[in-house]
Amino acid sequence: MNLRDTLCIKGGRLFIGGCDTVELAKKYGTPLYVLDEQYVREVMRAYVEGLSEYGDFAVAYASKALSCIAMYKIVKSEGLWTDVVSGGEFYATQKAGVDPEHIVMHGNNKTPKELTEAVKAGVGHVVLDGFDEIARLDEICGKENKTQKVLLRINPLVEAHTHAAVQTAKPDSKFGVIIGDEATKAVLDIKSRKNLIFDGLHCHIGSQIFDYSAYELAVEAMVKFIASLNNEGVEVNVLNMGGGFGIYYAGEDPKFTPQRYAHTVRNLALLIENAVKKYNVKKPFLIVEPGRSIVGEAGITLYTVGTIKEIKGIRKYVAIDGGMFENPRFALYGSVYTAINASRADKPFTQKVAICGKCCESGDMIGVDIDLQDTEVGDIVAVFSTGAYNYSMASNYNMNAIPPTVMVKDGRADYIIKPQSYEDLLRLNAVPEWIKD
Ligand SMILES: *Cc1c(COP(=O)(O)O)cnc(C)c1O
Repeated sequence: MNLRDTLCIKGGRLFIGGCDTVELAKKYGTPLYVLDEQYVREVMRAYVEGLSEYGDFAVAYASKALSCIAMYKIVKSEGLWTDVVSGGEFYATQKAGVDPEHIVMHGNNKTPKELTEAVKAGVGHVVLDGFDEIARLDEICGKENKTQKVLLRINPLVEAHTHAAVQTAKPDSKFGVIIGDEATKAVLDIKSRKNLIFDGLHCHIGSQIFDYSAYELAVEAMVKFIASLNNEGVEVNVLNMGGGFGIYYAGEDPKFTPQRYAHTVRNLALLIENAVKKYNVKKPFLIVEPGRSIVGEAGITLYTVGTIKEIKGIRKYVAIDGGMFENPRFALYGSVYTAINASRADKPFTQKVAICGKCCESGDMIGVDIDLQDTEVGDIVAVFSTGAYNYSMASNYNMNAIPPTVMVKDGRADYIIKPQSYEDLLRLNAVPEWIKD
């Protein structure tokens, strides 16, 4: 197995951020999310470095990938901006001390409450997603006596080659306004509103993308559209190209290093510079919004193997103490993962197994054909690339507690998200007075 730099095998055990994973499992219990701070920071720095020659830009961490106070503090300390998609995420950024000016608020149906909170706090940009929202935000700003900078989310009609559930720019999409006449109409609508300041355009073509021709097509379409808006007398200051940069999960996925992400956004910036020249438009302030690629490979999940069942001629089930409540991605997308027996990490991979969870659903799997070493009950198994869209998608299904997350760095470990207790699970329960014991 070809491990990333901050992972290694010592004395037969898997180490992350200088910490022995078997010891982490012993100390903090399993299931346990572990996040490697160094890798998170390296990728953030790579994105900034990659754009450093472009001119004015911001890297906005798409925090839905992993949203917690410690992450927002790291984002802030690295000079990144933050994307939020809900009132809850926005609230967390404010608790973490993030400058509201450096926040971009997304969502295809932000509630009046969410919009009001963001406007009141002075959020930098609201990304408007359609005509209803243009009117709604203008009205809210009027009530709050505020003006608000906005971007318009455009559907550039570019099909990214990725899973259908994470494609966002097909013609049939709930996101954005379709490029061309519809989008022009929306921009002119925004321009006509007293309380809205039109600042630019946004697109996000999907997630887990390796096919960079999709970005090429998106840049071409967006800059061409900027030129057409200029012809209508509309200035465009900001171009936000979204996120979506892919990570390694398993098999044929390319293995990216921080340097390669730097290279990727450098190329994206070059594409924009070329298109800007071609269409003779002002070079926009560039925003990119990586989420998955910043935290995905920085995270692993540790589990204890509880039961093993071999169904002769069919498959072997290795059941771990987690499952779809803490990693729903197989159930949602049929995602694939790579794993290792962290207790016997130096042993050869001898079998393909189904790693299944403890929930009452057959689809409760981490993966169905995962290479693994000889494994016994009680071993610690680590699943890789679980830093993004695992904790943030976790639930209390079957009243399982959402596992804690520990951050590791240079041999140190500490919580960034503490464990839930049984009391936590019941904390919001209530019993109407007409229901008697
Ligand atoms: C989800 C999302 C992102 C981040 O996508 P990743 O694939 O995690 O990089 C960026 N921008 C918007 C608007 C998103 O919805």
